[in-house]
Amino acid sequence: MRLDIISIFPEYFAPLQVSLLGKARLRGLLDVHVHDLRQWTHDRHRTVDDTPYGGGPGMVMKPDPWGEALDTIAPPPSVPATGARSIPAGQATDAQTVDVQTVDVQAIAHEQAAGAEHGATEGRRPPVPRLIVPTPSGRPFTQAMAVELAAEPWLVFACGRYEGIDSRVVEEARTRMRVDEVSIGDYVLAGGEAAVLVIVEAVGRLVPGVLGNAESVADDSFAPGRMQTLLEGPVYTKPPVWRGRAVPDVLLSGHHGAIARWRRDQALRRTVANRPELAAELDPADLDERDRQV
Ligand code: SAM
Repeated sequence: MRLDIISIFPEYFAPLQVSLLGKARLRGLLDVHVHDLRQWTHDRHRTVDDTPYGGGPGMVMKPDPWGEALDTIAPPPSVPATGARSIPAGQATDAQTVDVQTVDVQAIAHEQAAGAEHGATEGRRPPVPRLIVPTPSGRPFTQAMAVELAAEPWLVFACGRYEGIDSRVVEEARTRMRVDEVSIGDYVLAGGEAAVLVIVEAVGRLVPGVLGNAESVADDSFAPGRMQTLLEGPVYTKPPVWRGRAVPDVLLSGHHGAIARWRRDQALRRTVANRPELAAELDPADLDERDRQV
């Protein structure tokens, strides 16, 4: 899966070099490109924001740099890919402060041109990414959405700052690619970067091959299938007694049916306690059916 992330703080994405996703990148399962939005500004101050029309506090991100960024990374059919503006190496700025950057705009243009040619000769469309725009006013991000996004070959993320991005950017992008405005929760962050890290981690671990044991995904809270709409219950490891607290006997019993039933009960208890609105949606017949399968 290819991921392009556009931000005015590219160094924010250094964590993508470590842990599960860092390893997935080294193994070639995730191809991450982080771009500094300011590359697509043309004034001395590299301005990306301006005052809002209609007045009010704060600043709004200007459409021009965003339009150019998206045109470069995913050129519209009418813009020849080879016409994309190339960025002199010395201008890569913040992008060079962390090793997650592979901002080679000419290479992107070249790839796009190759894709377009390939599409023409094979009678197929060149690849088009899906654009994810984090915003508190977007659709709630869920595990179901993570599963859906993990099946995409190419995602582009647009990290807003200030009061957000001029709305015409999303409007225009929708004319040529699928766009999802996504919220990671009912609170307001200072910028889209933390939201994108959340989304990339949730999606990236679902990309085939990234997790060592694909089974663990099936048992997760919110996982489609067996545990759907149930939160995962408590988990334990060695030693069997820690500070006087013993692991529940059933988990040491070796009785797989009893363990599965206990886990299901614990999941149900936790769901009722922490997410009563999810518990209220549970279908007793569905739960009975799951019990029969245990
Ligand atoms: N004025 C905006 C509003 O009330 O909807 C908030 C803008 S916020 C200060 C700046 C940026 O942070 C947003 O453009 C978005 O990229 C990101 N952001 C903030 N909260 C978010 C959330 N809950 N989910 C996803 N992105 C969020």
